[in-house]
Amino acid sequence: MLKFAIIGDPVAHSLSPLMHSSFYDYYRIDADYNAILVKPNDLKEFLQNLRDSDYLGINVTIPHKESVIPFLDAVSKEAQTIGAVNCILRRNGKLIGYNTDMSGFEASLPVSMYGEKTVIIGAGGAARSILTACINAGSQQIVIFNRTPEKAEKLRTEFSGKFPHTVLKAYALADPILKSELSQASLLINATSSGMEPDSDERLPLRPEDLHQGIFVYDVVYTPPTTDLIKIAIQAGVSYLNGLDMLIHQGLESLKIWLNHELPFQKSLIKRTKSELMSKLLDNNS
Ligand code: NAP
Repeated sequence: MLKFAIIGDPVAHSLSPLMHSSFYDYYRIDADYNAILVKPNDLKEFLQNLRDSDYLGINVTIPHKESVIPFLDAVSKEAQTIGAVNCILRRNGKLIGYNTDMSGFEASLPVSMYGEKTVIIGAGGAARSILTACINAGSQQIVIFNRTPEKAEKLRTEFSGKFPHTVLKAYALADPILKSELSQASLLINATSSGMEPDSDERLPLRPEDLHQGIFVYDVVYTPPTTDLIKIAIQAGVSYLNGLDMLIHQGLESLKIWLNHELPFQKSLIKRTKSELMSKLLDNNS
């Protein structure tokens, strides 16, 4: 039996074990997938032990996607550019880091949806992947807002060096300029854990009247499926998507890397997995 897991802190909310078991069932793979709580101070030791373990692959979630990099033996070029790893392959006792959040995000959003100006809230691992996807898709101006403005500025400086043809701006999330930047944007992406259970009391500083009719709202959070931001999008009457599609696509991409072969892309698998995950989320909320 193949062994996989997700590490994070917290990780109990993760839908990845259920999602991967749906993949194994569909593709008839004999495998097991666990959620393992790894505290930041234990990350180095966990990865050291992982080298000699029988795990073939590991997914990485909050808060380790950036801090994991120095402890790996190699990192894919794409993950290096992004500066975040969410998928680790163990091969011959070596740990190789990949990023499948970016391709998961790309697979979930048609290129036509990106438009000229994008507002991204967040400056962590998810924001790095999404920022790279938006640049690859041709967004000409991207405005980053983050609770900790220094992190937004650091990301802006780093990515301006890597992608000099894209105009990048960075502000504190509390900066009132958010409203005017939103009024010119065609895409708003929440790449923070704000609104994620069990801390869903911490709200983003947004109201329905801040969203104009042409904007598309993408919340990478999926617990709960109707996040506060999505409630705001519904009240504003604009189109929206939660993070479930991205989650499923990044999971399939991780599985391909671990198995080292293509998996036939099946719309029916995506549909079935999404409905299983939705049922689980609705059960959790009832
Ligand atoms: P991370 O690296 O730890 O970054 C967390 C980000 O969220 C930081 O920008 C942080 O701001 C911000 N943040 C946290 N709490 C906040 C609050 N109450 N108000 C405003 N900002 C807050 O985490 P990550 O890996 O980027 O993940 C971020 C979120 O994306 C998580 O909810 C994760 O589950 C989700 N995600 C979803 C998918 C998917 O497939 N759907 C994939 C990846 C991630 P500071 O810098 O100020 O701390």
